[in-house]
Amino acid sequence: MALIVQKYGGTSVADADKIKNVARRIIARKKSGDQVVVVVSAMGDTTDELIRLAYQITERPDERELDVLLSTGEVVSSTLLAMALSDMGYEAISLSGAQAGIQTDANHSRARILGIDAKRIVSELKQGKIVIVAGFQGISQEMDVTTLGRGGSDTTAVALAASLGAKVCERYTDVEGVYTADPGLVPEARQLTEIGYEEMLELATYGSKAIHPRAVELGELFKIPILVASSFTDNPGTLIHGEVSMEVRNKVRSIAYDLDVAKITVVGVPDRPGIAAALFVPLAKAGISVDTIVQNASINNITDLTFTVAKSEIDKAMKVVEPIANSIGAKECVSDPRLGKVSIIGTGMQNTPGFAARMFSTFSEEGINIQLITTSEIRITCIIDESRVKDAVRALHRVFEVTSKVNQT
Ligand code: ASP
Ligand code: MG
Repeated sequence: MALIVQKYGGTSVADADKIKNVARRIIARKKSGDQVVVVVSAMGDTTDELIRLAYQITERPDERELDVLLSTGEVVSSTLLAMALSDMGYEAISLSGAQAGIQTDANHSRARILGIDAKRIVSELKQGKIVIVAGFQGISQEMDVTTLGRGGSDTTAVALAASLGAKVCERYTDVEGVYTADPGLVPEARQLTEIGYEEMLELATYGSKAIHPRAVELGELFKIPILVASSFTDNPGTLIHGEVSMEVRNKVRSIAYDLDVAKITVVGVPDRPGIAAALFVPLAKAGISVDTIVQNASINNITDLTFTVAKSEIDKAMKVVEPIANSIGAKECVSDPRLGKVSIIGTGMQNTPGFAARMFSTFSEEGINIQLITTSEIRITCIIDESRVKDAVRALHRVFEVTSKVNQT
């Protein structure tokens, strides 16, 4: 008998029939002799709807109240799933994050898990029950309900798997697994049977929606294998784990893209100590998360500073940056809200020259202009015009032969 944690995303529990379908899948697992702890997301678009509702009441919802409000989405789905299970003859109990012992810091809407006191879960499991935990939430030391940030139920699931010593964390949603590229965009894309934590972390951070990056980080830290699979099919899915050997494979494992990129360039900035801090400290204080930052080598002590933010943050970021740019004597601020980024990712790229050259040649042949380039040891990312992202992904998938035989696992 093994203990496993399953997580079902919002689309998997979007209505009563889908909740019943999930209940049947859980029962099949339970019948095979495993102990099952289940984490659920809120039904469908519930979280978005609750946020919309709060903003209809006030332009600035109180963060404590907003967290309690959003946490109810997962409470709804967890209770309904427990009811479905007991209606099918299986003992189940739903627990809110607080009841499940998920302790967090007090940073509302982006709380971090400090620890899990799993006593209650363990005692319910001992009584033979299936335990359903409301994802995405916890409780602070001051006994206030907190939420973990959008997509946080994945984090709840992996954290629970770590604290309970689960054999595996299974993440079910409406995608079949992790692919060599988005199959909606590249019909030849192939599903991977397995992928390493490091590669998955880059993929998730650079656009793959298969799983939240924070959950991958936790999985790596606590060595929890994570299965990404669909709740609607019996496709075996993709296993994220630490033992994937790299040498035998193709060098590029997958291609990610993200269409949510906007760029701001502060032109003609004096090159002296303190300028970057003068710009980025106020941006951080305004809660704007900055992604790529590029500063040119200066000529005559004047340089340009470019950074990217999410499209929805561009106006807010410009409002923060423009007055500062003025006061530090920069020439002007320009923004471009219509960008996207495309990344090639693979641990096999480490210490192997030529990947950047091939990527740039591909863009050159396709007539795609590269605006910014960033790299890690296992990733190369180009920021380009949003209208060319699809062409770029398709071309790279072809050029790097991501689906070729050597890449099979
Ligand atoms: N319901 C939350 C969200 O939509 C958390 C989650 O789904 O993981 O962001
Ligand atoms: Mg959701």
